[in-house]
Amino acid sequence: MRIRFLVLLLTAFAAAALKAQPQPQPSAALLDVEKLADNLFLLKPGGGVNSGGNTAVFIASNGVVVIDTKIPGWGKPILDRIKELTDKPVTTIINTHTHYDHVSGNVEFPATVDVIVQENTKANMDRMGPVLGRESVTSGPSIFKEHGGRGLPKRTFKDKMSLGTGADRIDLFYFGRGHTNGDAFVVFPALRVMHAGDIFARKGPPLLDANNGGSGTAIGETLAKAHASIKGVDRIITGHSTVMTWADLDEYARFNKEFLASATAAMKAGKTVDAAAAEYKIPDAFKGYTPNADQTKSNISVIYNELKK
Ligand SMILES: [Zn+2]
Repeated sequence: MRIRFLVLLLTAFAAAALKAQPQPQPSAALLDVEKLADNLFLLKPGGGVNSGGNTAVFIASNGVVVIDTKIPGWGKPILDRIKELTDKPVTTIINTHTHYDHVSGNVEFPATVDVIVQENTKANMDRMGPVLGRESVTSGPSIFKEHGGRGLPKRTFKDKMSLGTGADRIDLFYFGRGHTNGDAFVVFPALRVMHAGDIFARKGPPLLDANNGGSGTAIGETLAKAHASIKGVDRIITGHSTVMTWADLDEYARFNKEFLASATAAMKAGKTVDAAAAEYKIPDAFKGYTPNADQTKSNISVIYNELKK
């Protein structure tokens, strides 16, 4: 009995040590650069370092547009990396949504930089409330309040907005609730590339952040609308994974619609959230999708709550 207790204790210590494993100091050298075009680069975490979501760097004729700025401490390394790519100044940040791992670096950019987001994301960034299921890392004070409001959005759009012209043009779209209630699709028409942020983070269950307007009953439809409405895109920068194809977005919309159908059927059959989550399996049609039991359970709970309303 005593030995079993000791083993449990040691296991707990090992788990805690693993969790608290120190992350290296953020630095430009730890950002891997993937060239998507002569003037479009993807900055990804190198060597398994946790730096947050995928950052896109678009070099327009008058300056650089940065899409998403990672977790605290990574704004400066992003700026340093950009200096290796171009002499042009950063003029604009676009945040795909409110989450700390996509917006925190904003505070390290010059105060003159224009920050553009969907209007609901501005409201969310003014609060920086905890993310559903990630409360332990997102319940602290707002990074923007700590920096006197620096890095907060200056301009917003509702459904659609275009910046620049010709080869410089960027189109911003909003199609409804999903990962949050302010997920922007950022399109570079001349390059046929789109940054989808976390509404398409990876091939697997999405984070449905009901605390920031996310919706499990809407996400599939929102993704389908994006796929049906946006034209001329071949490659998609995901929130946290590799670059995907336009067909992958269609598949991801279907994945989320099928998940909603399965959760709805489970609720109608009187199953508890736990029972529905335990029974759920990623359908065979979705090859290469990574299961996530905790996220699946949280998403079923979000959908049940929406269906009860
Ligand atoms: Zn997110």
